[in-house]
Order: sequence, then C-alpha cells, then structure tokens
Amino acid sequence: MIYYKTEEEIELIRQSCLLVSKTLAHVGSMLKPGITGFDIDKAAEEFIRDHKAVPGFKGYNDFPATLCISKNEVVVHGIPTDEPFKETDVLSIDCGVYMNEFYGDAAYTFAFTEVNRETMDLLVATEKSLYKGIEQAVVGNRIGDISFAIQSYTEKEMGYGVVRELVGHGLGRNLHESPEVPNYGMRGRGSKLQSGLVIAIEPMINLGTRRIVNSNDGWTIRTRDRKISAHYEHSIAVKEEGPDILSDHSFLKEAIKNNKNLSVIE
Ligand code: MG
Ligand code: MG
Repeated sequence: MIYYKTEEEIELIRQSCLLVSKTLAHVGSMLKPGITGFDIDKAAEEFIRDHKAVPGFKGYNDFPATLCISKNEVVVHGIPTDEPFKETDVLSIDCGVYMNEFYGDAAYTFAFTEVNRETMDLLVATEKSLYKGIEQAVVGNRIGDISFAIQSYTEKEMGYGVVRELVGHGLGRNLHESPEVPNYGMRGRGSKLQSGLVIAIEPMINLGTRRIVNSNDGWTIRTRDRKISAHYEHSIAVKEEGPDILSDHSFLKEAIKNNKNLSVIE
C-alpha cells in the first residue's frame, strides 16, 4: 500500500529532511583524522535534539546510534565505534530524523584527503547516478525507470557493482514505506509514479563485486571482496512539475569546501 502525501505533508517531510541535511553538514565540518565515529554520532544526536527532533535511526529495530557510519568496504548500516578515522578513509554517513510525525532520510559519502583516484571516481559516479535516478522520478514513469537509470550508468557504463539486496524506499510517517526503489531494474516496470509519492533514492555502488556479506553484529554490511563501496541518498517528492528534492546536500558541500581535511567529490 503506497501512501501518497498532501502538499502539507510533503512540507513537513521537507523540514525533517532539511534537518538531516544540516546534521550531515554539521558532522561534515567536524571530520578530521583522529576523530571517531562515537564523537560525530554524539554531536549529531545533540544537534538533532537541539532542533526539537529525535534521531530517526536510534532504536529503529534496535539500531544503537544516530548515524550509520559505513567506512571503506562497509556498504551501509555501519555502527559508530571509537576507532579514529584516517586520511585514507571514505565514510558513508546516513542520517534520519523524526520530527512533527514525519521522517527525513539522506546520506552522503565523504572522503578524507588521501583517498586514491580510483575510489574518488567511484564516489563521483555514485553521486552522479543518484541524480540520474532522480531525473526519472516524474509523473507517468515507473519505479523501474529510476532503477534502470542508476544501474545502466553505474554497472554498464562504469563497470561497478550494484548492490541488489538493499534498496531505496517510500518515506513519510514511517521510515520505510512502500514502494521499494531498487538500484537495478527494467524500464517501464514497477509502480507508476504519481504526484504525492515521496521516496528515498539511494544508490549503493561497489568498486568491485556487487556481492555483500552480513556481519555478526547484525547490522554492518560489507562488500564480499572488501573493496570500497559508496552510498548517496536524497529523499524526493514526485510532483506534476517534476521531482522535488526534499533533502539538500548544498549544506554539506559547503562544509566540505571549508574543511581542509576533506576532499571535494568531483
Ligand atoms: Mg538513509
Ligand atoms: Mg533510506
């Protein structure tokens, strides 16, 4: 069952997504070698609560933290630890908030300064694929058109691995709603996109194999070959006039530009 949102509901989701975006910028401004996942997770939780919202992930299916911090070969759902970050790390940071009865959800993969070109190229392509997916989120298209756009670019054109087991999703009063939004698929298949549909589009793209492994903590998902994985996510609303991106990565991009410990993804 898909819940289509009213204009008012979309605006509430936008407020939640904007707080996620600003939280990602806040932690992005803090990132430096030596800081830990615990440090930025704590800062993120404080930032969200200071804005009269609550972390969307903490306690969700018993997830223990405010942020998913997925380092290097971790695809998604990494749990923050006390291990200091290094100059060579890439960090996918995924954040959710719950405010005014609606969730916001967005993610970005950050790179420190000593990340190699091969990895930077993966990050650039994965971010680009997110926007190729969003472009297809127009009334009259189907979910498969979004999926196909992401897969054909990252897999066929770039030769990367597209994770199959984890997908984007509807978003609203629940963090995960129908429909699923896979990052692979066929044009013209799946649910028709109608005005009022709110979905999180989130390509998870691997440098090597698309195969993944689950770890013993019940959360952390790694690439099977232990090569790098990237993850970028926006929450968007389908509207008559086109896709409306509810989260806003411009805040974190500004933070990256002003943080000499990070590389700009380009
Ligand atoms: Mg997310
Ligand atoms: Mg999501």
